Amino acid sequence: MARPPIELDALIVGGGVAGLMTLDAIHRRGGRAWLIERDALGRGQTVWSQGIIHGGLKYALGGSTGAAARAVSDMPARWRAMLDGDREPNLSAVQMRADRCAVWAAAGARSMAGLLGAKLALRTRPRRWPDDARPQPLQGIPGMVLSVAEPVLEPTSLLQTLAHHHAGRLLRGEVAGIDASPDGAAVTLQGGLVIRAAYAVLLAGEGNGQLRQLAGLSEAAMQTRPLRMVLARGPLPILNGHCIRGTSPWLTITTAAGDGGERVWQIGGEVAEWGAGETAAATIRRAISDVRDALPSTDLAGTSWSTYEAPRAERAASDGGRPDQPGLIQDGRVLTGWPTKLALAPILADSIAALIPSGGEAPPVDEQLPSPVPAPPPWMENRTWTPVHSAAPA
Ligand SMILES: Cc1cc2nc3c(=O)[nH]c(=O)nc-3n(C[C@H](O)[C@H](O)[C@H](O)COP(=O)(O)OP(=O)(O)OC[C@H]3O[C@@H](n4cnc5c(N)ncnc54)[C@H](O)[C@@H]3O)c2cc1C
Repeated sequence: MARPPIELDALIVGGGVAGLMTLDAIHRRGGRAWLIERDALGRGQTVWSQGIIHGGLKYALGGSTGAAARAVSDMPARWRAMLDGDREPNLSAVQMRADRCAVWAAAGARSMAGLLGAKLALRTRPRRWPDDARPQPLQGIPGMVLSVAEPVLEPTSLLQTLAHHHAGRLLRGEVAGIDASPDGAAVTLQGGLVIRAAYAVLLAGEGNGQLRQLAGLSEAAMQTRPLRMVLARGPLPILNGHCIRGTSPWLTITTAAGDGGERVWQIGGEVAEWGAGETAAATIRRAISDVRDALPSTDLAGTSWSTYEAPRAERAASDGGRPDQPGLIQDGRVLTGWPTKLALAPILADSIAALIPSGGEAPPVDEQLPSPVPAPPPWMENRTWTPVHSAAPA
C-alpha cells in the first residue's frame, strides 16, 4: 500500500544559512517545517563564504545612509546577541574567527579619516586600534588601523549548530517534482516520497534556478555573479579585516585553522572579482602582489596558494547590478529566496516565517532516511596548491 503523504506547513528546499535560519524561524513561530538538502549543508556559498557579519563598512566608505545601509548596520548587534546566547536561535556553540575586523588603507590615509567620522552608516562607530596592540601583520604599516564591529564566524560551525537544533527536521534527498495549487504544494522526492506543505520554500542558492523550473516558474528571477576566491596556507599570522583603497574595500582577508596547525587565509575583494574572468595561475599571481602591497612586512615564505570559483546567487536586479537586500518572490504557494549576504539571512528568515501558518509540531523525519551534514570548507577539499616561490616572480 502506498505511504500516505506527509503534511507540513512548509517544506524548505536547500540547507545553507538561509534554509536553516528559515527552518528555525518557522519552528519558533509554531509552524510544522522540514528541510530537504540535496548534497551537503551550505555547499555553494555558505561554507565558501568568509563568514563576516557585515555592518555597512562599504556604505560608510561611500557615504550612503539609505535603507540597505540601515538594514545591514543592525546585523552585527543581532548576530552578537545570538552568538552570546541572548537571542534565538542560540548560536553560542558557533566557533568564531574574530570579534571584529581591522581596517587599514593601502595608499594614503584620506579614506580612513572619513571612516572615523562615519557614525551615520555604521551603528557602532569605528575605533582606532591601539598602535601597540595591532594584529601582527599590521604592526609595521604606516597610517592608522581602525577596528569595526564586524564579527567573523566559522560558517561550517554555524551550519553544524543550526543543524543540531533541528536534527529531526532535516532530510537528504533530491526533488523530482513540485506541483503547486492554490491550496498548497506537493513536493515529490526521487524514490517516490511525497511531501505536501502549505508552502514550498526554495532556498537553494544557485539551485533555485533548476527548482523554479521544476515548479514551472521562470529561472530569470535569479542572477549569479562569479568570484574566484584565493586561498593561502602555511605559517601565516592571524588577520581578519579589510584593506581599503579609495572608497571601497580592496582586499579582504580572513583566517581559519587548517590541517596540522597551519593557518589558511581566505582572500576576497577586488582580486576575486577580477579573477572570475582569469585563470587560477593569474589570479594567484595578482593576489600575491596585492598582499605584498597591503602587508609589506608579512613574510610569505613557505606558503602555498590555490583558488576556488564561487558564484553568488541572488534575486535578479532589474539593472543587472548588485542587490544589497535579501530577495523574496512569492508565486502562489511557492516562495523563493536569496539572502544576498550570510549576515542578512535572519531578515529573510523573518519575512518568510511571517507568511507560514502555524500548524503545531512537525512529525519527526523517519530515522531510516539519510540526514545531511555540513560541507567541508574549501581548503579541506581536494585541490591543487602552488608554492609561493613558483607562483610569483621573485
Ligand atoms: C566567496 C563568497 C564569500 C562570501 N562572503 C560573505 C561574507 O563574508 N559575509 C556575508 O554576509 N556573506 C558572504 N557571502 C554571501 C553568502 O555566502 C551568501 O549570501 C549565503 O551564504 C547564501 O546562503 P544560501 O543558504 O542562500 O545558499 P547556499 O549557501 O548556496 O546554500 C544552498 C543549499 O542548497 C542546496 N541545494 C542546491 N540545490 C538543491 C536542490 N535541488 N535540492 C536540495 N538542496 C539543494 C545546496 O547543496 C546548498 O546546501 C559570500 C559569498 C561567496 C560566494
